[in-house]
Amino acid sequence: MKEKGILTVVSGFSGAGKGTLMKRLCARYDNYALSISATTRKPRVNKTTGECEVDGVDYFFIDKAEFENMIDNDQLIEYASYQDNYYGTPKKYVEDMLADGRDVILEIEVQGAGKVKAKLPDTVRVFVTPPSAAELSRRLINRGTEDESQIRGRLRRATEEAEYMPAYDYILINDDLESTVDRLHSIIQSQKSKTNFCEHMISEITNDLKEHMKGD
Ligand code: 5GP
Repeated sequence: MKEKGILTVVSGFSGAGKGTLMKRLCARYDNYALSISATTRKPRVNKTTGECEVDGVDYFFIDKAEFENMIDNDQLIEYASYQDNYYGTPKKYVEDMLADGRDVILEIEVQGAGKVKAKLPDTVRVFVTPPSAAELSRRLINRGTEDESQIRGRLRRATEEAEYMPAYDYILINDDLESTVDRLHSIIQSQKSKTNFCEHMISEITNDLKEHMKGD
């Protein structure tokens, strides 16, 4: 029997570098599947590089009616509203990947993370943060995708999100990209040694030992 994959929720302040971290993790290791969320927000253009987000790659960009239809049909594991838009995790992809033994990562905000943990208690929750508030502000300004008032909105939201940090299993300080990727990989893989993920292995070895000792 195949062991199921681990479900990890990664949250963090907007501008903490979660997107880059996830891409690097998936590029370095094979076993991860990154869930693609649905959102009613419009695709973003990076003002520095001119690159635009792609439908079906960065997000499934849908309108409000389509999103509400997904809610009504129970097609989302969770959803939340963030800066006047809906964001949600499509259920089928996550379930299929976990059943196939892949380690699935959801990059979602704090309200959604709470809902996933309540539904699926084995979920590992990791909160990614830059080393300081000043560094967060600098990264938001440098990425050039939001104007000044949007940056203030994201920093205001970060102040609220900081309240949720103690509820996470791990705090991951994103100072150096490559070492942060390594630490995230270690956190996720070490979950596989926890007893609740090894039920099948435990019962197999227990039965085999009993069989071995029969008649002793
Ligand atoms: P952004 O607009 O910067 O791409 O995302 C804004 C916030 O929404 C981020 O904190 C991101 O992690 C979160 N987010 C993205 N997808 C989902 C989702 O499916 N569910 C929830 N609850 N949050 C999401």
